Amino acid sequence: MLEKVLIANRGEIALRVLRACHALGIKTVAVHSTADRNLKHVAMADEAVCIGPAPAAESYLNIPAIIAAAEITDAQAIHPGYGFLSERADFAEQVERSGFVFIGPTADVIRLMGDKVEAIKAMQAAGVPCVPGSDGPLSDDGDACLATAQRIGYPVIIKAAGGGGGRGMRVVHTEAALLNSIAMTRAEAKAAFGNDQVYMEKFLENPRHIEIQVLADGQGHAIHLGERDCSMQRRHQKVVEEAPAPGLTAAQREQIGRVCVEACVRIGYRGAGTFEFLYENGRFYFIEMNTRIQVEHPVTELITGVDLVREQLMIAAGEKLRLQQGDIVLRGHAIECRINAEDPDSFMPSPGTVSLYHPPGGPGVRVDSHLYSGYRIPPNYDSMVGKLITHGIDRETAIARMRIALGEMVIDGIRTNIPLQQRILADAGFRQGGQNIHYLEKRIAERKDKGIKLGS
Ligand code: ADP
Repeated sequence: MLEKVLIANRGEIALRVLRACHALGIKTVAVHSTADRNLKHVAMADEAVCIGPAPAAESYLNIPAIIAAAEITDAQAIHPGYGFLSERADFAEQVERSGFVFIGPTADVIRLMGDKVEAIKAMQAAGVPCVPGSDGPLSDDGDACLATAQRIGYPVIIKAAGGGGGRGMRVVHTEAALLNSIAMTRAEAKAAFGNDQVYMEKFLENPRHIEIQVLADGQGHAIHLGERDCSMQRRHQKVVEEAPAPGLTAAQREQIGRVCVEACVRIGYRGAGTFEFLYENGRFYFIEMNTRIQVEHPVTELITGVDLVREQLMIAAGEKLRLQQGDIVLRGHAIECRINAEDPDSFMPSPGTVSLYHPPGGPGVRVDSHLYSGYRIPPNYDSMVGKLITHGIDRETAIARMRIALGEMVIDGIRTNIPLQQRILADAGFRQGGQNIHYLEKRIAERKDKGIKLGS
C-alpha cells in the first residue's frame, strides 16, 4: 500500500482525498497557497507545504513547486483531485519521471482524451456511440465544410479540439453563417488553447447529460458503476446531479455501461473515469471522457456503497481491482446540490468570512465541505464551497431529505446559492425528473422576467 500521498488540490476535494487516505492508514501532505493557510485539510494533514502565492498559476498550477514539495516530504504518490492539474498530461508525465506515482491514468491516455478529435476517433474505434459529425478536424476548404454540414444537417456545433470547461463552442443554424462561425471559433481556440483545430458535430437540441462512472485497474479489468444525470446546468456548469438517471432502464444501463467498460480495456484505462454523453430520444452520444475523479462522484458512492477515492488509491498502489461487475448493485437514489458562495440572483461570487456554519445531518445526509465557522473564503478560486448529498430508498425520499437538509444548512456571513437550490428542489419539472440541459436556464430566465428575487 502507499505510505504517503501528496494532495495537489484545495477545498472540499482535498479534504475528501485526505479522509480516504487516512481511512487506509496513508499519511498525507497538504500543499497550499499563501491564501489557503486556513484550509481545513491543511490543519488535518500530517504535513503541509506552502507552494506559492494566491494566484493558482503560481501555486496549484506550479508543477515544479508541487514536485519539490513531494520530494522534501518524501511522499510516494500525488493525487490531483479535479480541475487544476488533474487532466494535464505533462503534469502526469513529470510526476512519474520524478519517481512518484500519479494517481490517475497514464499521461498517454490523458493526452488522448484531452484532444477531443482524437478522443472521438478512439471512442468510435472502440464502439462507443458518438454524435454524428465531421469525424476529424475541419480543413480550410470552405466547400468541404459546407458539404460536411449539409451531410450532418443543421443546426451544427463547431467545437475546439483542445477546448474544455464549456468554452470554444459555437452553434450554427444556417449555411450562411457557417464559414464565418468556423473562422471565429478557430481564432478563439488558437488564442485560448493554443490549438486552432476545430471539428463539427450535429447540435442536439434537447438532450440530457448522462455520464457513466468507470473504474479500471490498468491490468485488463474494468467495471462501470452506473450513471449520473447532470442535466441541471447553468452556463454548462452542473448545479444539481443525481443517480440513477430518471427513466433509464436497467437494460439501457447495462448496454451503455458495457460499451464503456470495453472501451476502458481497449485504451488501457487506469483509475476512476467518466464517459460523458448527451442523451436524446433514447440514444447516447459520447461527448468527452474525464480522466479524473469528478465533483459529483458522491451520488454514485451513495447508491453503490463504493468509495471511489479509496479505489483510486488502491489502483495507484498497483492492486488489482477486486470489485466485479456483479458486485455493483444500485440501491435507492442520491442527489447532490453544489453549494456555491455566490449571489443566488446575479450569480456573482461572494467570498468573505463565514461567521457561522452549521451543516445539516440526519439519515441519508452527506456533507462534503471544507467550511467551518470563522473560515475566510478567499476570492481567488472557484466559488464552490461544498456539496450537499442526500440518499433515500427512492427519488422522492432523496428529494424530501434534500429539502430538509437545505433548510437546515446555515452559512452566515456570505451569500450562497442555497435559495436557488431550494427553488430547484421545489420545482414541479425537476420533481418530475428527466429534464433536458436547457431546463434550468429557461426557468431562471422566466424568474428574472417576472422580477422574482431569491436573495434577501
Ligand atoms: P467541455 O469540455 O468544454 O465541457 P463538452 O464537449 O463536454 O465540452 O460540451 C459541454 C456542453 O456543451 C455539453 O454538456 C452540452 O451542454 C453542450 N454540447 C456539446 N456538444 C453538443 C452537441 N453536439 N449538441 C448539443 N449540445 C452540445
